[in-house]
Amino acid sequence: MKAPFLFIDECDVAGKRVLLRLDINVPLADGKVSDDTRIRRILPGVEALREAGARIIILTHFGRPKGEVVAAFSIAPVAAHMAELLGCEIKIEPDVTGPGGVAAVAALGDGDVLMMENLRFYPGEEANDSAFAEALAALGDIYVGDAFSCTHRAHASVEALPRMMDVAAAGRSLGAELSALDAALSQPKRPLVAVVGGAKVSTKLAVLENLVTKVDAIVLGGGMANTFLLAKGHAMGASLVEAEMVDIARTIMDKAASANCQIILPTDAALAKEFAANAPHRIAAISDVQDDEMMLDAGPQSADAVAAFLEDASTVIWNGPMGAFEIKPFDQATNVIAATVGRLSAAGSLISVAGGGDTLAALANAGVSHQFSYISTAGGAFLEWLEGKELPGVEALRHG
Ligand code: AMP
Repeated sequence: MKAPFLFIDECDVAGKRVLLRLDINVPLADGKVSDDTRIRRILPGVEALREAGARIIILTHFGRPKGEVVAAFSIAPVAAHMAELLGCEIKIEPDVTGPGGVAAVAALGDGDVLMMENLRFYPGEEANDSAFAEALAALGDIYVGDAFSCTHRAHASVEALPRMMDVAAAGRSLGAELSALDAALSQPKRPLVAVVGGAKVSTKLAVLENLVTKVDAIVLGGGMANTFLLAKGHAMGASLVEAEMVDIARTIMDKAASANCQIILPTDAALAKEFAANAPHRIAAISDVQDDEMMLDAGPQSADAVAAFLEDASTVIWNGPMGAFEIKPFDQATNVIAATVGRLSAAGSLISVAGGGDTLAALANAGVSHQFSYISTAGGAFLEWLEGKELPGVEALRHG
């Protein structure tokens, strides 16, 4: 039995020095934050810490300066943007592990916020160096991990540091993510259905191998479904397929059969001769794909059948689009299935968790993201969680 997590709302933080690991690696344009979704998501947690009288020391990375001080990767624009949103001053400390850092932390009053300069200016961060982590640990009383999207990386501020702290807690946003993921895969309400699409089987092999042992059914779509259909003996014409993955696709189908996991593949297709928006296309049965045709989306019969199947599901995990959703009208199957999941989730009869890769863009295109129970913005960490891997930054937060 694994040790449980400590959640930040269980901790008394008044007057305490809180090392708060965030992922505020946001895009910039002309030196200003151009998309602050990531910042807004963690803001309530920072506000709650301030109100409770914590002395906050924000730890984060920004871009890939590769262990060197690179002015273009300074966290200054992010700190300025966050200060504006929070309505308080945020001092930046460039001397993270030196006397400057110690003095800046000592100067903090209750509710004050300090941001350490980009941790990746130090080679010890990505090397998960214990001396670097020890220097950080000396600056705080409590560690709060609130960067789920970084938890698949064993970096010093994510892995070594929380293990050194007497108190290491999950922040609000990471805590919500853990609860949502746990409800979806560890203790799901069944039937549990995975919807897995996207371009290639090869990039989602580990995901499929893990899911067949855990879920009751997998709905396959996108280019990866093409490879499975090829493995079942269908001619796929000029469609995107990975011929070298056909044997593996068969192995996955065998594993699914012995684990009682149903694999649902498209029965009809939207076929076109070019990969372009509004390309002339026709709807045909899977058995009728001509040599010069590409399957760019599941057909309406398939989408409706999946939608009907999902009416009886209790939990849905979604990763990857059902077709080439960026080029209309090949977003249709994704849209129909997403609308069903969204409606059932909003009505409370389905728990739905989505994330990874192009999924967020595909669901946003369908216009139903807000109806899903939980959307994870953590691409890499979400996929590794789907693969059943232990996430170093999550495991480091378990206290025993
Ligand atoms: P992924 O990042 O693995 O989730 O893959 C997403 C990409 O798969 C998107 O860019 C889609 O356009 C692409 N895709 C999905 N279905 C197809 C298909 N049938 N043929 C070609 N590309 C596809």
